[in-house]
Amino acid sequence: MQAPKFHHETLLSHSGREPKKLGGTVNTPVYRASTLLFPTVEALQAVHGTLNTYGRHGNPTTRALEAALCELEGAFGAMLTPSGLSALTCALLAMLKPGDHLLMTDSVYDPTRAFCEGTLKRLGIETTYYDPKIGGGIRELMQPNTRVVFVESPGSLTFEVQDIPAISAVAHEYGAVVMLDNTWGTPIHFPSFKHGVDISIHAATKYIVGHSDVLMGVIMTSRALYPQVRGFYKQLGLSISADDAYLALRGLRTLSARLERHQRNAHQVAAWLAAQPEVEQVLYPALPGSPGYDIWRRDFTGACGLFAIQLQAMPASAVSAMLDGMQLFGMGYSWGGYESLILLTDPASCRTATSWHSKGPLIRIHVGLEHPDDLIADLHAGLERLRETVDV
Ligand SMILES: *Cc1c(COP(=O)(O)O)cnc(C)c1O
Repeated sequence: MQAPKFHHETLLSHSGREPKKLGGTVNTPVYRASTLLFPTVEALQAVHGTLNTYGRHGNPTTRALEAALCELEGAFGAMLTPSGLSALTCALLAMLKPGDHLLMTDSVYDPTRAFCEGTLKRLGIETTYYDPKIGGGIRELMQPNTRVVFVESPGSLTFEVQDIPAISAVAHEYGAVVMLDNTWGTPIHFPSFKHGVDISIHAATKYIVGHSDVLMGVIMTSRALYPQVRGFYKQLGLSISADDAYLALRGLRTLSARLERHQRNAHQVAAWLAAQPEVEQVLYPALPGSPGYDIWRRDFTGACGLFAIQLQAMPASAVSAMLDGMQLFGMGYSWGGYESLILLTDPASCRTATSWHSKGPLIRIHVGLEHPDDLIADLHAGLERLRETVDV
């Protein structure tokens, strides 16, 4: 984990590229290969046990992506998986065994929770959910068999920002590993390893790929944990295609430029929404006055385009009137592409350690790269449809 020599913008342009070795091509080509051939027995034996024996263990395209991601986040090693969720489940299984205890933020991405309640429970691994705002108070929940403390910041749907340095300090005191879902933070806006994280996981599907056309996950680890996680990943036989790796590398090159625009647009849209009478609260940690703003400012170097708004209590038909007629905001799961999205969510159904008190609906918004005035006009028209339904 050496300190990066260059700024993120520069690394994004230059990491994971070796034109001199590749006939001068700017981009690492797509290496489609399952079989690798060796000219001699000696050559075959020389690679035994390394990642250079067989296509499943990677190729120059996947390795270029791994190298670039490691440099950006300051990780020792990276492993690419077929989805963000598979990265999360692989990392958890790599670190936990029957009898272990897992501390899990209550604001975790719901499919991660489903894995804890399903597979981990079946394997005899116990999960305790904690209030995402617990900070150093996590000490009260540490058990002698607590092996992993899992954080996700900001939390899925509700955007609580966690005090990761405080949580990491306690976890390490007890010999536990800190695992983070860093999808919102991205490899460039939350320097996870500097803040005490041991394993950082991303749904690369979101901003890294950035164009809504590839599912991918990445697990990044410290030097100490790399052999264990890589070994387990290898045993599972996880592998991604070189074509997908190429698209992710292509998306990665513009990550900083895209995020700058996503964040600027999101600020403008969020501030406008905060002033609308139907909006009870905006949950965008990068917006002054939003919950979590102080910790976000302290620990993050930027934000993205994803946030939520809590509306006042209103009939379901009013929300439908707003969302059904959107012109620019698409309705769908996922986020992190160049396009704007809007989604009605229900965090109450996926919280157990804390409860989500809101009489009104929660709407998640992904602000894309469109002109913010057009997005605001679309939201304004949506709120007008909503107002007609409520008829206040
Ligand atoms: C989307 C998402 C995932 C899962 O990624 P997939 O590629 O869809 O499997 C994990 N964590 C967070 C926070 C996400 O938003």
